[in-house]
Amino acid sequence: MSNSFENAKKQLDKAFKEIELSNDVHEILSKPKEAIQVSIPVRMHDGKLKTFQGFRVRYNDSLGPTKGGIRFHPDVSFDEVKALSFWMTFKCAIAGLPFGGGKGGVIVNPKELNKHELEMLSRGYMSAVADIVGPDRDIPAPDVYTNAMIMSWMSDEYNKITRKIQPAVITGKPISLGGSLGRDEATARGGYYIIKEFVKKKGLNEKEMRVAVQGFGNAGYHIAKMLHDDGYQVVGLSDSKGAIYSEKGTLNPEQVMKVKKEKGMIDAEYYSGSVSDDSKHKKITNEELLELDVDFLIPAALENQITEKNANKIKAKYVVEIANGPTTPEADEILRKNGVVLIPDILANSGGVTVSYFEWVQNRQGYYWELEEVRNKLKEKIVPAFDAIHTIAIEKKIDMRTAAYIFALKRLADAIESKGTEEFFA
Ligand code: NAD
Repeated sequence: MSNSFENAKKQLDKAFKEIELSNDVHEILSKPKEAIQVSIPVRMHDGKLKTFQGFRVRYNDSLGPTKGGIRFHPDVSFDEVKALSFWMTFKCAIAGLPFGGGKGGVIVNPKELNKHELEMLSRGYMSAVADIVGPDRDIPAPDVYTNAMIMSWMSDEYNKITRKIQPAVITGKPISLGGSLGRDEATARGGYYIIKEFVKKKGLNEKEMRVAVQGFGNAGYHIAKMLHDDGYQVVGLSDSKGAIYSEKGTLNPEQVMKVKKEKGMIDAEYYSGSVSDDSKHKKITNEELLELDVDFLIPAALENQITEKNANKIKAKYVVEIANGPTTPEADEILRKNGVVLIPDILANSGGVTVSYFEWVQNRQGYYWELEEVRNKLKEKIVPAFDAIHTIAIEKKIDMRTAAYIFALKRLADAIESKGTEEFFA
């Protein structure tokens, strides 16, 4: 298994070679500022006490309180949480938010817990990390296999511990508890605005674009639906249990979601019976989905999906990383050599944290915005960031990932260097 944190640092080192910055910036950004490991005891339904391992990492707070989601997954590790908090640091800088980067996780398969156990685990996690989180310190949010209800349990637990109602301690909450309109679709919407801008720049015809999405969860479903609604052809979709393919690009994400909800999985045969006859849908493997002949491949599941093993088989012209860390540094090189243009995670999925920021702002001012206002404000932030990074990539003749790091580093370096540098103190 590829080491995500080491991979993340390799990406940064590549960017450091392209620009001149004080050594202090490298020194500060190479290690997490604060990282804790906790044990969370939960009384299970059979009476046994089970202890779950959790983590919270505040990677860097040069630009403000740290911000980042909480993942519940059996493969969570300290290393993975560090990598995710590292990427959050750069993502918040790219999005121009007054936040640093953080992340959390618990080693658990939430599908094996009943609802009561899940609530106890969520409350237990918040109780264990309560000293390092807070509206002005570290603000969690949802990530893989955590959702608005889990955020509401955690928010409630924090309020109980601090004896104050503090909705700004966590984002991605239900609307009735101070969530923001548009947060559920925000990660996808940010990526969607970027794809639209990219297609416009390239002079491509939207109706001819063939798309495959890996990971049919929150982010993957919404981006597939938005593109489908604009006439893009959805050729492939997958979740952890399998993938489906339509040669003609007639997959309708809303229909597929209906089937997934009914059957617990994406299902080709069932699905083909419920849509137009002219389309052929078949089951393919998750590996095959990544190798489909499409214009846009959108990884929206987990890390390390495009590696040196399969990078040469990727036929997509453009890869838009909605997931965090889906491409290893070795695969990055192979894709680049093969002429595949990649729009990196720290830019492509920054819509999620941007609307989380809007939620935090609304919580603090106690005044809530309409959906259109949220969408417009997101577009106003993410499209210029994409344009600037695209321009850096063209001018410097480098890949967009390195360009994104350079863009973020300028903001981070400004903040770090303004406290004095090696040169200043020498
Ligand atoms: P989610 O839990 O809603 O969905 C994850 C989906 O991936 C599920 O449908 C699962 O079945 C699928 N999946 C898991 N393993 C798979 C595999 N091997 N092949 C195909 N599908 C697989 O999670 P999400 O919130 O949509 O997050 C997805 C990715 O987007 C993660 O990398 C996350 O860090 C990133 N992200 C999410 C947000 C957010 O706001 N939710 C923000 C930024 C980035």
